[in-house]
Amino acid sequence: MLKFRMDELRYARNISFAPIGKKGQEKLCASTAAVIGLGAVGTPAAAYLARAGVNIILIDHDIVEKSNLQRQILYTEKDALGAVPKAEAAKMALESANPDINIDAYAEELTSRNMGELLGRADIVIDATDNLETRFRLNDWCVKNGKAWVFSAAIGDKGMSATMVPGSSCLRCFMPKAGAGMLPTCESEGIMGPAAGIAGAIGASEAIKYITGAGKPNTQLLHFRLLDMSFELIKINKDKACKTCGKREFEFLEGKGRVSARVCADAFQINYKGGIDIGLAEKRARKIPECRVLLASRTVLAVDMLGARVTLFGSGKAIVKNCATEAKAKNIAAKLVSA
Ligand SMILES: [Zn+2]
Repeated sequence: MLKFRMDELRYARNISFAPIGKKGQEKLCASTAAVIGLGAVGTPAAAYLARAGVNIILIDHDIVEKSNLQRQILYTEKDALGAVPKAEAAKMALESANPDINIDAYAEELTSRNMGELLGRADIVIDATDNLETRFRLNDWCVKNGKAWVFSAAIGDKGMSATMVPGSSCLRCFMPKAGAGMLPTCESEGIMGPAAGIAGAIGASEAIKYITGAGKPNTQLLHFRLLDMSFELIKINKDKACKTCGKREFEFLEGKGRVSARVCADAFQINYKGGIDIGLAEKRARKIPECRVLLASRTVLAVDMLGARVTLFGSGKAIVKNCATEAKAKNIAAKLVSA
């Protein structure tokens, strides 16, 4: 059990809600939730959990941008102007809402290698990422380690949520394969802020239920659309032939599973086979006068350079945004990475 400070006045409304009560509140204060992806779904999820007294692990490798402010509720105009890493900006916002909890923030890429280190302490994981590869990897890791997690996603006016607990069906029971462009991105499709807010709030509510034992986890797939106000629960059957929870083959964790990434019109992805030495790339970046380093962690380097936003990942991926041609993107990345 974690040591915690329980201010009964702060949590009075949780305590007077009978299914949670004082016992449930003690469990919340002694628990930790990890939120992966601090965008439109992750920020409301983290906000509700932090305010409920849950200790938080925040993971996101991105930087706050102006176009995030329409829906990513922990950030301010100042964060966007200062290009503050989301993990850092979110930590500051949550600390000011509840100084009694522990908040660990990692501006890291979640990989098979660091998953155990970053998620090991969490009692439950909220997936609020926008890419399938991370989701499949997370599903593998959670099934392998018997960890509960909540799948949550939103796009346009639509949202989805499902909770996976040890022994229940898993993500691959209903999504056996991840195809190219299966999930459109909000850059291409747009999104209503409240759709993501609902998905995030449901994620937080599932975590609160799981931690306190109030109610039952939603092991079905919730799908909602706001324009016609439809909320639907689709039953997920546990698939005995499921590669992950049936056969216990963790191919995404082992790096064998692949998902094709969809990159937007003005962004290019370059892959470096042997990975990228982030420390070396950072040294190079700091020597280039027209290069501004925005984020430098163990696994991620983000810079503004020659009008483009370049994000490099230790696993070998480079994303160059605001760039007109692939040749130009490659050229810019090559200043930081040797192929
Ligand atoms: Zn499964």
